[in-house]
Amino acid sequence: MAILEIDCPICGEVLELTDEDRGELEVGDAIVCENCNAEMEVVRNENQDFEVELLGILTTCPNCDQEFDVTEEMLAAAPTVQSAGGEEASLVRCPHCQAGVELLFEEQTEA
Ligand SMILES: [Zn+2]
Ligand SMILES: [Zn+2]
Repeated sequence: MAILEIDCPICGEVLELTDEDRGELEVGDAIVCENCNAEMEVVRNENQDFEVELLGILTTCPNCDQEFDVTEEMLAAAPTVQSAGGEEASLVRCPHCQAGVELLFEEQTEA
């Protein structure tokens, strides 16, 4: 069975889709990266053509428990803060309660 590999645009994780998975996906459906929760919308799914577009990163606000999407624009505008562990985190604001939410990305960079 053919397996289609998609690189997550956020964390670089390889998402594997089998023919069966693809058969169940329609244009407009969203797939979510298991590693970083990035949400991608299927924009094309025909024969050899499969394309996704990054929607955002599905995040649950620790303050009000509501889910929201962090988009690339939000990330670009987000200030960077030092998290408790010393890593760099992006500070975005929850659209529901306006609480600041720290987003941490595990970068898969090899030294
Ligand atoms: Zn990812
Ligand atoms: Zn909130």
